[in-house]
Amino acid sequence: MTDLKRSWVESANSAETQFPLNNLPYGVFSTEGGSPRCGTAIGDQILDLAALEEAGVLSFAGTLKTGSWNAFMALGKPEWDRLRAELTTLLAEGSDAEATLSAHLVAQSDATLHMPFSVTEYTDFYAARHHAFNVGSMFRDPENALPPNWLHIPIGYNGRASSVVVSGTPVIRPNGQTKAPTEEAPKFGPSQRFDIELEMGAIVGTPSNGPITVSEAFDAIFGYVLMNDWSARDIQAWEYQPLGPFQSKATATTISPWIVTAAALEPFRTTGPEREKPLLDYLFEPKPMIYDIDLEVTLAPEGKDETVIIRSNYNNMYYSAAQQLAHHTSSGCPMRVGDMLGSGTISGPEKGSRGSLLEMSWGGKEPLTLDTGETRSFVEDGDTLTLKGAAHGDGYKIGFGECVGKVLPARPVTN
Ligand code: MN
Repeated sequence: MTDLKRSWVESANSAETQFPLNNLPYGVFSTEGGSPRCGTAIGDQILDLAALEEAGVLSFAGTLKTGSWNAFMALGKPEWDRLRAELTTLLAEGSDAEATLSAHLVAQSDATLHMPFSVTEYTDFYAARHHAFNVGSMFRDPENALPPNWLHIPIGYNGRASSVVVSGTPVIRPNGQTKAPTEEAPKFGPSQRFDIELEMGAIVGTPSNGPITVSEAFDAIFGYVLMNDWSARDIQAWEYQPLGPFQSKATATTISPWIVTAAALEPFRTTGPEREKPLLDYLFEPKPMIYDIDLEVTLAPEGKDETVIIRSNYNNMYYSAAQQLAHHTSSGCPMRVGDMLGSGTISGPEKGSRGSLLEMSWGGKEPLTLDTGETRSFVEDGDTLTLKGAAHGDGYKIGFGECVGKVLPARPVTN
């Protein structure tokens, strides 16, 4: 485990900040009246990288002036490493760049954060053992909860890139078609079982056009974001067979505003759960490729204090993002810069570590009691759900910012 790298930006040296010099996450921000710009978070500030490229302090083919990280990602891994190295030097304690750079710091409290990249494609997986077991128990049969393919293949579905939104964007409760087993006929209306999924999103920075190995896939991932895959369970239960989720997952997927790079997470690589069956060779992982990242979810009813409802860790994943990406390419499926792979709901073995309300309330049978005294089986209108995540080093932590969404009432049903 590496130590805190000290910066001349004093707030970056606090053990409490999510953004020490070790992190340097990439986002897109604007200030009043200005256009969106690429920046990196350092302590409680944002360093304006577009301005630094305009001033000639940084030179990355103009990509930092584009208001999105896609063009920079397309430059390739050597350039990713060069930017990180240059920023680490410029922001280090004792750097003589302080006088030049100080003029390009913006307080995070004065900035609005935007989508950090344009999502070109979006695939979501089903890759935590405990989540698959819990959902299989509820949707199918506790005796055969895990599908027969689950221990062999990273299961996923193709999601909608158009539905991915940045933290802070309101989420409108979906309408949809549902039919409970006890009901005679299907009906159409607001989802009554609207839920969250605690996930991480892996962002592909190196494109491919054919099969790649797990190692190549690991190197192709630019970075990670927190991800909330909003899910309408009543719509899902009725629609999902035989082709998987469709409208139940198409409303919104919220991501954190900061992309934490794979380079920043390198010291936190760890092994996941024990393999229960050997994997086929093309899924072989030569080194640990998941990360030790503590995750939590809070729920705040309208106008009230938040309660921590879930605590989990990314190390609960049975399949790493690199394995998922290698599997995804095995068919020849091309991957583009800005492709995002959702990890799947990150549920651990303990009850409090289940990554969705469906699991936490066991399908609504065991409602959660919030600190306010209210109970929840699923998300209610006016609720604000917040995902947080941090990798913990020695005297510092690496955070993602917050991944927030407030749920608004469904649109009126029309025909
Ligand atoms: Mn999901």
